[in-house]
Amino acid sequence: MLHVALINGPLPDGALFMREGRCTQRSSIWATQWPPISLAYLAAVVRDAGARPFVFDCPPAGLTLSGLAAALRALAVDWCLLAVSTPTARDDLRLAGEIKRRLPAVKIGAFGVHPTVLDREILDAAPAVDCIVRGEPEETVRELLAREPAEVAGVTWRDGAMARHNPDRPAIANLDRLPWPAWDALDTGLYRLPFSRRRFLCAGPSRGCAFGCSFCTAGAYYGRRVRFRSPVSLAAEIVRDRREFGVDDFFMWAETFTLNRAFVLELCRRLRHDAPGIRWTCNSRVDSADEALFREMRAAGCWMVSFGIESTDENVLAAMGKKIAPIDIENALEAARRAGLKTVGHFILGLPGDSPRTIAQTSADARRFDLDFAQFYAAAPFVGSPLYATASRSGMVSAEDFPAVGQHRATLRLPGLPPAEVDRALRRAVWDFYGRPRQIVRVLRTVGWGVGRQIAHEIGKRLRFGV
Ligand code: SF4
Repeated sequence: MLHVALINGPLPDGALFMREGRCTQRSSIWATQWPPISLAYLAAVVRDAGARPFVFDCPPAGLTLSGLAAALRALAVDWCLLAVSTPTARDDLRLAGEIKRRLPAVKIGAFGVHPTVLDREILDAAPAVDCIVRGEPEETVRELLAREPAEVAGVTWRDGAMARHNPDRPAIANLDRLPWPAWDALDTGLYRLPFSRRRFLCAGPSRGCAFGCSFCTAGAYYGRRVRFRSPVSLAAEIVRDRREFGVDDFFMWAETFTLNRAFVLELCRRLRHDAPGIRWTCNSRVDSADEALFREMRAAGCWMVSFGIESTDENVLAAMGKKIAPIDIENALEAARRAGLKTVGHFILGLPGDSPRTIAQTSADARRFDLDFAQFYAAAPFVGSPLYATASRSGMVSAEDFPAVGQHRATLRLPGLPPAEVDRALRRAVWDFYGRPRQIVRVLRTVGWGVGRQIAHEIGKRLRFGV
């Protein structure tokens, strides 16, 4: 039986880091690490294919390179599939090299948005990598374990000195046909909600996004056509997770959970009936839900919704292709609050079109919006995003910048807005938002005093070190 390792690799500084589709980031200020649903799906597929999966989510497990290598050797692993992301690509490929050096017989594949787009470049730069799994990985991996790479759609593989780019694989049309994530292949105790420290799991209602926001890589990975699970299948999976893993908290991991009203209403109806008492959170676009929908979600256990607001400047919103208006933001937040939901706003500073004035305005609006929580990110030209293409062409970012690309620190060089100024604005935005006495009390009421102390410590650390 083949032994297959599925790896979210360690970072040299030991930071928590997620490589999950379009979400490739250091863990947030709340120090949470999402359960790696991509690895759990792959583990289920590997098992289905008659092989044995071993999941290594190294950052939360505190597993270093040498610990990982020792485990791979002890388990006599045949295949390693590495999640590779733009901010960590250099470290990820170094990890591949180290694994190959210590275990030369192991085959190494890379997956994720970054290698999907830069498949040939990675095979050129990293001799240790045998093949790239492009796009949605599950069906490709299933076939790769049974056939030669030359026969598998969606693979780019090494053929002597050549990189062979096989035809693309169509997106999985019926997501219900995927096996449910094999959470039993992971230590689910590693994943805890930031506020309550309760264990939680992710559930995947849909894949794909039609909007094409400039900073986002969703389209390059799961495609521009949105595909939904059936509510009956998703609710049954949640019931299974509850029963088998003793978890009552969930994050609906979708590009935009609220996009399909009929889907959400039916899922909520089923959750009320089949899984009473669960608690869940999700994300939403500000133009895709109203108070009635939020009330249904609240009644089915949703307690918090995250909104991608990004900016409150009309021109910056238009330039990023977000296709929302500032008035949509206020309406959605008001509707969610009236329905009894906590709200989180996500903001990106330093996008093309931004200036010191628009950044100050966005930061001020974040405070004015009466949000429960806010997250501020630096604009990052992730490989696979439209912004990456624009920024590379126009010299806003260069190849040397890429090891530093990430949402925790600015790298884009915009006219009149150097990265250092964006970094200062990021720190100021966090401080101005959370430093208000009213907000401190509000956060403490939500998270409790013990967690509040931890958050204060974390904010202080990040403000001091600028991460
Ligand atoms: S709405 Fe925009 S940011 Fe959200 S997933 Fe779609 S493309 Fe990405």
